[in-house]
Amino acid sequence: MKVFSSPDFDEHESVLFFNDKETGLKAILAVHDTTLGPALGGTRMWNYTSEEEALKDVLRLSRGMTYKSALAGLKLGGGKSVIIADPHSDKSEALFEAFGRAVDRLNGSYIAAEDVGTSVADLEVARRVTPHIAGISEGGAGDPSPATAWGVFNGIKASVKHKLGKDNLEGVKVAVQGLGHVGYILCQYLHEAGAELLVADIFEDSVKRAVQELGATAVPADEIHKVDTDVFAPCALGGAINPNTLSELKASIVAGSANNQLETPEMGEALRARGILYAPDYVINAGGIILISHEGPTFNRDAAMKQVSDIHDTLLDIFARAEAEQKPTDVVADKIALEILENAGKKSEAGQKVSA
Ligand code: NAD
Repeated sequence: MKVFSSPDFDEHESVLFFNDKETGLKAILAVHDTTLGPALGGTRMWNYTSEEEALKDVLRLSRGMTYKSALAGLKLGGGKSVIIADPHSDKSEALFEAFGRAVDRLNGSYIAAEDVGTSVADLEVARRVTPHIAGISEGGAGDPSPATAWGVFNGIKASVKHKLGKDNLEGVKVAVQGLGHVGYILCQYLHEAGAELLVADIFEDSVKRAVQELGATAVPADEIHKVDTDVFAPCALGGAINPNTLSELKASIVAGSANNQLETPEMGEALRARGILYAPDYVINAGGIILISHEGPTFNRDAAMKQVSDIHDTLLDIFARAEAEQKPTDVVADKIALEILENAGKKSEAGQKVSA
């Protein structure tokens, strides 16, 4: 298995492979970049089919966190961790305590939070053995999903403003793929704002609830991307925009919470070429990490949510620059994030020279 020469390695600062004989914990903890601050990122527990798959996932997600935090204006770096195990059958307190010991080895350069397959309760167990855990209920911000949904809602407003020239969502059609922790709350915000909802989930109860409570129209899960709508909001898994779905999209905007929405980097340009506005995933879904970054003794949820609303203006800036430069929005977002990192790097280098 290649690590340093893996295409996803991208100059990671450190990658820790952690093995705990007693509990059977096998985890990979990746710290991509700490230029802006300690690397904060979730812990994914997944039954990966191979170690290569787990490594690829953690490296890609970790790098994404560097860009996400930079663009959200946070003093945080990018990192992520994966536990190679089945979240339905392999969880135990001993396993998460062992994971906590792994996090502790990184001396605060990595701060773990919950992610797919792990819960706030799991991370609270890890917190018993290390202080480097964020997003826990006690003294922390708790579940980040409502903040993520609030950010996506603001991002959809910005996208509609830019693309459709409308200042509100009254009568705007939004097709939401995935009614989980983020997708359902997003639908509530959209409903309150007067949007028309089309929804899909592979879990039928959530769809029924959205139809009953929010007057949404149910759409089969394999058809939600092709409905006649203004906005397509992927809020399920990654890869929603791929060569198959791209040619069937009728939306003029793609804006949702899912990570890694573009199956390949070429999809960004393909969306642009079709005149579809894409709100880059790691920009629009940064609400959760913004909330968590406010944790601490002076935690103020209102102040955090206000900063989450800034996603609206960050996206407007990206859209304007992308239009001026005739470039895909995801490419422009990457460029801005790199500029932020380079400037911060230069500042700290200058600081070191002064203090030397
Ligand atoms: P979740 O697991 O609670 O919800 C996902 C939902 O998608 C589930 O209801 C699932 O049944 C549904 N789903 C799965 N496959 C589907 C398909 N093919 N068609 C339709 N529905 C399908 O997850 P979540 O916390 O709501 O996160 C949703 C997405 O947003 C994920 O990609 C996640 O990585 C991303 N995200 C979440 C947060 C957060 O704060 N929770 C933050 C940033 C990014």
